Amino acid sequence: HREAMKPHVAFLSSPGMGHIIPLLELAKRLALHHGFKVTFLVITTTTESSAVQDQLLRFPTFPPHLHIHHLPPVQLSTIVTPDMPFLTRLCTTVRHSLQSLRSTLLQLGRPKALVIDIFTTEAFDVCKDLSIPVYSFFTASTALLAFSLYLPKLDDEVEGEFVHLPEPVRVPGCKPICTEDLLEQVRNRKIDDYKWYLFHASRLPMAEGIFVNTWNDLDPDRLRALNHEPFFRDIPMPPVHPVGPLIKRDEPVAGNTDAVAVLKWMDDQPCNSVLLVALGSGGTLTTEQLTELAWGLEMSQQRFVLVARKPNEASASAAFFDTGRDANEPASYLPEEFMKRTRKSGLVVPSWLPQVAVLGHKSTAAFLSHCGWNSTLESVVNGVPMIAWPLYAEQRMNATVMAEEVGVAVKPAVAPGERVIRREEVERVVRLVMEGGKGEAMRRRARELQESARQALDSGGGSSHEALCRVTDSWKSQQ
Ligand code: UDP
Repeated sequence: HREAMKPHVAFLSSPGMGHIIPLLELAKRLALHHGFKVTFLVITTTTESSAVQDQLLRFPTFPPHLHIHHLPPVQLSTIVTPDMPFLTRLCTTVRHSLQSLRSTLLQLGRPKALVIDIFTTEAFDVCKDLSIPVYSFFTASTALLAFSLYLPKLDDEVEGEFVHLPEPVRVPGCKPICTEDLLEQVRNRKIDDYKWYLFHASRLPMAEGIFVNTWNDLDPDRLRALNHEPFFRDIPMPPVHPVGPLIKRDEPVAGNTDAVAVLKWMDDQPCNSVLLVALGSGGTLTTEQLTELAWGLEMSQQRFVLVARKPNEASASAAFFDTGRDANEPASYLPEEFMKRTRKSGLVVPSWLPQVAVLGHKSTAAFLSHCGWNSTLESVVNGVPMIAWPLYAEQRMNATVMAEEVGVAVKPAVAPGERVIRREEVERVVRLVMEGGKGEAMRRRARELQESARQALDSGGGSSHEALCRVTDSWKSQQ
């Protein structure tokens, strides 16, 4: 049997689309282009199920040698409580699920390597015992990777909160990070989310290698720092392999009537005329902010597609907990008659749309995004400039990198003393990116990066392709 002859590697992703999507893309590549048999381990629970995730993992055109394997479901009710913060809940679930990792890996016949993500580092201990090398796929930006590797030192040296530091945080070899941009999980060191983040970040160097979802041209300075700066060499730390951009390309649109309807609507719009407004898989706004955003869109008189989520006053990532069971009726929470008034120029889609397909559509001109790393890459790979609207996790860092270093995004401003971005500011940035010369310059830059991303992945010597081959060759040569 041919498959039995192939070298076998396994993947282990923590729950959440932001992790599963890039790990699955890497897994597909290994199965399709590098001659591996791949087993993709999925963490499941008895009570929570995400329709979108299930659909992704049941995708009909998986390559033949890629297998999805569900770990035994975790009984959530016995381990998590409703008041647990997001990351604590996630990490607690993962830790329980991984009690079955050892037996699963043995049952799979000891794969040649295991690829994990940032929140599944319990695998290091299990795999050490089984002599399976572990690689980490860091699915967020290199800016966050560098910060995370520096975090244990910061934790040792700084007393009090990082957000109260008088100066920006200077990670060796990297651009300073202003304290307002620090990720959510390190803004309060007393809470469990911080402890979990520090725990997993401090274990990153235990990997044999760290894959990162970027490519040389997008992030040359930080990549150089990570591989050559004395601080990182002294940790000691494994090599960092830029293998990106790995984004979801083939979305299962056919058969999904809502997705088909969105693309049909896009087909009817002029080229380069639509602003996509989508805030990732978890993003939500307060009622006040959603109202301002909607008015700003309407005032800008530009065409748009808006992914609408019920507002939430307490959390900017409330949709992560949305089971999809409650009805989502945008008319009930968008400004009165908004949908009626914008009927000709705008489309409101409840909850979810096929983002990659929309970003790749010829009618799309710009993307108002929460700047999750996957969304950011998807935008750049399609040559689409962004309005950066960060909400949670490390998105403020990504927004700053894209606006100030890369030059493909604009950040709307919150006026002094205000809690929200006002409608006039929304109108200004929408017009700027859709019709202004600055928008054109950002679009040109995004198109340059689109081309350089294509080259990086080219199997005829592209930098990301070569970086991946170096690792897969070492796996194949292992006994
Ligand atoms: N996504 C999508 N449709 C939506 C919203 C999100 O397909 O309506 C996808 C998006 O294309 C991306 C992922 O979900 O691949 C979100 O990942 P990201 O890292 O941007 O943000 P996160 O959801 O992890 O905050």
